Amino acid sequence: MGVPEALQADPDEGERLHVDQIADEFFDGFDVVADIARPAVSIFGSARAPRDHPVYAHAREVGRLFAQAGFAVVTGGGPGLMEAANRGAQEAGGVSIGFNIELPHEQAPNEFLDLSLTFRHFYVRKTMFVKAADGFVILPGGFGTLDELFESLTLIQTDKVIDFPVALLGVEYWSGLLAWLRDRPLVEGMVSPADMEIMTITDDPAEAVRVIADGYRRRPEGHTVCR
Ligand code: AMP
Repeated sequence: MGVPEALQADPDEGERLHVDQIADEFFDGFDVVADIARPAVSIFGSARAPRDHPVYAHAREVGRLFAQAGFAVVTGGGPGLMEAANRGAQEAGGVSIGFNIELPHEQAPNEFLDLSLTFRHFYVRKTMFVKAADGFVILPGGFGTLDELFESLTLIQTDKVIDFPVALLGVEYWSGLLAWLRDRPLVEGMVSPADMEIMTITDDPAEAVRVIADGYRRRPEGHTVCR
């Protein structure tokens, strides 16, 4: 097959189409996000935790408590701890939302979603997690979860997002990472003491709810401020 005629005429056409697709994805995402009830929380955690793992039960409890506190619960809509948080939220009669991602290996959204939206690009989806929520809860996880954690910390540190609490759940799981941040980046001046205060680390889901509800109440207009 030869190069399509439109591309021969304008070599930038392919890129333009790609950028249009990305813009459409942002528009569609913003549309959905605008209709999400507030307050809302984005909950992250491992896609790989099996249903019989204790952290799955913990994540389900987290989803349940946020729903009982009146929060819509947003996750990546996948399996593992995402599923657990959605499941807990739905069981408590709350609004359960999944921002799924198209991956090379086929994957269905979990079965505990009231609203499901599928993104093609990770970076569009990441924006929506922030836009849709009044805070982040980070459960134990791997690269994906760490990416979401550090994305939020960077936005907060640089004042791109204001009054946006981040709760790390699982003291034992996260303490090694926090110790390293204190021992190296903090000691060497690569993060400031104030940066270290952005995160609340706890084992208590009720404390995570408190921290995020307090942040929500502090915001004058009640919505996430993104600059
Ligand atoms: P990980 O901690 O590496 O298991 O990645 C989990 C986090 O990254 C979740 O909070 C998701 O937002 C995203 N993610 C990674 N894998 C998936 C997946 N299979 N389905 C949906 N989201 C995923």
